[in-house]
Amino acid sequence: MSFPKEMLKTVIVIHYHELWLKGRNRKFFLGKFLLALRRAFADFPGARMRQPGDRVVLEFGVNAPVETVIARLKRVLGIAYFAVARSVQRGSSDDLEVLCQVAWEEIAPLEFSNFAVRAKRSDKSFPHRVDEIERHVGRYLLEKLRAAGRPVRVQLDDPEMTCRIEITPGPMLVYARRIPGTGGLPANTTGRMVCLLSGGFDSAVAAYKMMRRGAHVNFVHFWGGGARPGESSVHVARALVECLVPYQFTAKLYLVAFEQIQREIVRSAPEQYRLLLYRRMMLRIAERIARRNHAQAIIAGDSLGQVASQTLQNMVAVGAASPMPVFRPLAGDDKQEILALARRIGTFEVSEEPFHDCCPLFLPRSPALYASAADLAEAESALDVVELAKQATEASVLEKYSYSSGRVERVETGSAVLNIVANSVGQLNQQKA
Ligand code: ATP
Ligand code: MG
Repeated sequence: MSFPKEMLKTVIVIHYHELWLKGRNRKFFLGKFLLALRRAFADFPGARMRQPGDRVVLEFGVNAPVETVIARLKRVLGIAYFAVARSVQRGSSDDLEVLCQVAWEEIAPLEFSNFAVRAKRSDKSFPHRVDEIERHVGRYLLEKLRAAGRPVRVQLDDPEMTCRIEITPGPMLVYARRIPGTGGLPANTTGRMVCLLSGGFDSAVAAYKMMRRGAHVNFVHFWGGGARPGESSVHVARALVECLVPYQFTAKLYLVAFEQIQREIVRSAPEQYRLLLYRRMMLRIAERIARRNHAQAIIAGDSLGQVASQTLQNMVAVGAASPMPVFRPLAGDDKQEILALARRIGTFEVSEEPFHDCCPLFLPRSPALYASAADLAEAESALDVVELAKQATEASVLEKYSYSSGRVERVETGSAVLNIVANSVGQLNQQKA
């Protein structure tokens, strides 16, 4: 039997979750979600978007690059899952038979021991009811599977495989293979935050976790001296921001020279508290940057008990340096979980690169494990922490990143801003001079 397939057109069915939970805000979240989809495919002028019920159907022209489309959808926050659908033109008197055949093509290669067919009809003019479609196609598939010697059964409750059929006002869609999305909430819906971004694995993952909850995140990175040319951490921080910006379309990166402050701390404070005092200064500077950006909270990549500076006592004592809330979304995660997520979002390879971390500079062999906020306040009493934070913030370099049409662009901005094109601290210093 021949039937008019539209197999050259790529049609994607997108399922989102959670958005509908948001009651009166649903419209706002959905608007942001659709905006993100439009931005993700701004360079596909032929793409069409429709919303039959609680789904979004994206239709691309002939010969759309399916792999590119899939890769981009994996970075649109708020998608529960999506599917590349088989699309069939309606109109023949044999619509049900056509659906049976296309459904069989879709599910034949899949492994499962029980299944269900689920149909939805956003075009009520279709002459068959939903239960009729489900029963007819389900029976057909069961016969085909049995004939092929496959011991499967129909299971309507929590089936291993669901063959979905959508009767839209346009084509009929059939799909069974789900590609998981990021989940979470749409980008830029829940507020602004600033992330303390090192070059390691943790803080990039921490930023992603908050972005996935709808936060818009800007980044602060502290770089230090003592590196040989080419060994700075700046290039790693930049590459991490480049990995993360597609999820939220824009991001700022503040690069803060930290060595001067470290020297001040080393000169005037007890050795055992050095690292914790570095962190308190980082927090104060991040707070200033956050206020400048109307952000309400700071993100850090600490995980409880992971290293000496991340005992509960030390985290609390560091956090006391700023009145701004500090979110530590990895506090309860194991390293393995963090690394698995880093692999999924693409930051793993970047964080794996060797770079010069400013923190180990001048560190003692036995750092304090259980400092209190009072201990640290006392330890830094000889420092003018407000002035130091102010100066470092003023001298910071701002880079703006944006993502569109599948590409990340970096723009240096502002008159006081230095045009850093170099990778290394040596070159950076030259430019600053
Ligand atoms: P990461 O893998 O993110 O570097 P970590 O496990 O190495 O984390 P630490 O080095 O103790 O932990 O840092 C704890 C947190 O402090 C980091 O997750 C990050 O949020 C912040 N931080 C550390 N170093 C820097 C830096 N150079 N610039 C900005 N933030 C930093
Ligand atoms: Mg680190």
